[in-house]
Amino acid sequence: MWSMIGQPKAIALFEHGLNAANLAHAYLLVGPSHIGKTTLALDLARAVNCQSNKPPCGECQSCQRITDGKHADVTVISLNSNRGRETKLRAEISIDDIRDLQHSVSLPPYEGKYKVFIIDGAESLSIEAANCLLKTLEEPTSSVIIILLVSEELRLLPTVASRCQRIELKPVSVDDVEEALAKVYRLDDDKAKLLARLSQGCIGWAVTAVHDDSYLEQQAKHLSRVMSLLNKSWGERFVYAGQLRNDRKAAEEVINLWLLWWRDVMLTKCDCKQDVTNVDQISMLEKWAQVLSLQEIKRFISNLQESLAQISRNANIRLVFEILMLDMPKKEYKDGDGIPSVSTIL
Ligand SMILES: [Zn+2]
Repeated sequence: MWSMIGQPKAIALFEHGLNAANLAHAYLLVGPSHIGKTTLALDLARAVNCQSNKPPCGECQSCQRITDGKHADVTVISLNSNRGRETKLRAEISIDDIRDLQHSVSLPPYEGKYKVFIIDGAESLSIEAANCLLKTLEEPTSSVIIILLVSEELRLLPTVASRCQRIELKPVSVDDVEEALAKVYRLDDDKAKLLARLSQGCIGWAVTAVHDDSYLEQQAKHLSRVMSLLNKSWGERFVYAGQLRNDRKAAEEVINLWLLWWRDVMLTKCDCKQDVTNVDQISMLEKWAQVLSLQEIKRFISNLQESLAQISRNANIRLVFEILMLDMPKKEYKDGDGIPSVSTIL
């Protein structure tokens, strides 16, 4: 059974390839973070090495060993796979990783039918590593499948991309995520609805949050801190901006989180609470909908969208956040009986 939730087209394509013994030697799985690229790649690794007649069964010894990360013929290469030499998260996947891959490709499978190499974050291959990989892709070896996973396809060398069969994964519907969470993970309706909406159709995000309770807590704390900046001085806002990670992906995640929240404030202001994402934060949303005008909410949502565009154009991340701190409406309020009294400063 495929453990991937959603993506029926991709699964049908793999099943057809398996049944017709006509799999590509290299695949390029394209899709946003947390969409399930790694899950699907591991499903394919299980399927080609499965010992049952219904691959991937998920239960045979081979499937189990792949699930446990112990199968000798399935290798995941990523910025996190440090090859025992480095302790920090790397900026690039190096040529040494690809040389190791090439050496391994030249040897037959050790315990399974196929060697499967999954390069997670292939857009982070260094130029040398990408060119080195190109040679392997140009000379396919039977019983070897290379699967490249990318969320930022334009950063991948086009010559590398052109030698792989491209499969695009799209977010699944929020209703499908909610149904899967209730069915597979037996979540109650409220939690399934909250996680499904927060995931925005990226099932991997929802599954991580199911397994890690602190995920939602940290997110709620972060949002509460951001909103508390509304009545803080410029100095305090800049201190906050300086504490954010100076990393493009992390910055995009933070801004997307803010966007979801500000959209919720807007929906609450417009009496459309049934459509909000943060369904567990209705009272907070009502408070902020009361404090902010629709014009302020609209303007700041535009500022957030523009910031995302700037980050994608390699703008200075710290500066982007500092400008956002200036753009964020400034309010003075007091919490009386939970109902803020408001006077606008700007
Ligand atoms: Zn199996």
